[in-house]
Amino acid sequence: MNLAPYACHPTHSRGRRHPEPAAPTRTEFQRDRDRIVHSTAFRRLVYKTQVFLNHEGDLFRTRLTHSLEVAQLGRSIARALRLNEDLVEAIALAHDLGHTPFGHAGQDALNACMADHGGFEHNLQSLRVVDSLEERYPLYNGLNLSFETREGILKHCAPRNARRLEAREPGGVAQRFLARNEAAASHVLQPGLEAQLVNLADEIAYNAHDIDDGVRSGLITLTQLEDVPLFDDFRRQTLADHPLLQGRRLLFETIRRMLSAQVYDVIAATRQALDVAQPADVAAVRGQAALVQFSAPMRTQSQQLKRFLLQNLYRHAQVTQTTVQAQRIVHDLFAAYRATPAEMKPAFASQTNQPRAVADYIAGMTDRFAAREHERLTGLRLLG
Ligand code: MG
Repeated sequence: MNLAPYACHPTHSRGRRHPEPAAPTRTEFQRDRDRIVHSTAFRRLVYKTQVFLNHEGDLFRTRLTHSLEVAQLGRSIARALRLNEDLVEAIALAHDLGHTPFGHAGQDALNACMADHGGFEHNLQSLRVVDSLEERYPLYNGLNLSFETREGILKHCAPRNARRLEAREPGGVAQRFLARNEAAASHVLQPGLEAQLVNLADEIAYNAHDIDDGVRSGLITLTQLEDVPLFDDFRRQTLADHPLLQGRRLLFETIRRMLSAQVYDVIAATRQALDVAQPADVAAVRGQAALVQFSAPMRTQSQQLKRFLLQNLYRHAQVTQTTVQAQRIVHDLFAAYRATPAEMKPAFASQTNQPRAVADYIAGMTDRFAAREHERLTGLRLLG
């Protein structure tokens, strides 16, 4: 790999919490990626909702296919910018490991249940999965990933939680949320470029696949999408080249062109930002505003698309109807396990911090396991 000086070089990693000898053939970030792929939490992603509930159809994205798409987009951009593809892939595959069942509805409900016990944040939970909850190694909990992968997984963190993490791991992955960065536009310090890239690849991926899934479900139409400039520009281009194209092929070709345009836009805009900033290494990257970016016009278009999806898909009556039931399942499960911890697996029932153990147990569930547990404990069948 011909890495740029500002990329994360595996030989300069800030290391693992439990030091380990180097692997004979793999770099540290390859090992992180491999550990994530073999984790239990990763396999659960296949049965977790992205927007549409897992059982609503076989072709909708799940957290697993979403994560694979983020990894693909991220690696494409990383290679062009000479960033570390292995690290991008590791962060992308792990970025949603902490998501609850039932997508954002589940996370909001669990956060409400945990209001008096430190709350629930899915980014922090993803870190908790790789740091503590996976049980695969003889000598420690978690996957013992390198600092740079963990830094990328912790995309956001509320100051209160950052202080708690910082106390346990001084100068660690939470520090950037506490240090104020006067030089940068944002109030927190940036992570490495690979982590910045995964954030943007995440956005590019869900904007595109939610159009596809939205149209597939019938909740949004191609005609409605004509109001979205980013989509409509490429729809017109596609029709100019293929005047008779319609239906799914028109949709797919439009999305394909839209994805390519965003990928090339990020590469060009980021190259320009790097040319201006000239960061000598990762430390210099961390001290500035985010360098991985869209051009200003693409940023505007991406935000218009996001707004469209929020108004027309995420808040569609048919989606919010399942949201209410999903939240009820999470609330009921939380109450049931708090009342009778023995209903959980022994490893969770025996924890001293019971509210957190209940949150960990519920967060780890797949959609269908949560629905089944709910039926077992309440006799009510919701979302089955
Ligand atoms: Mg995501």
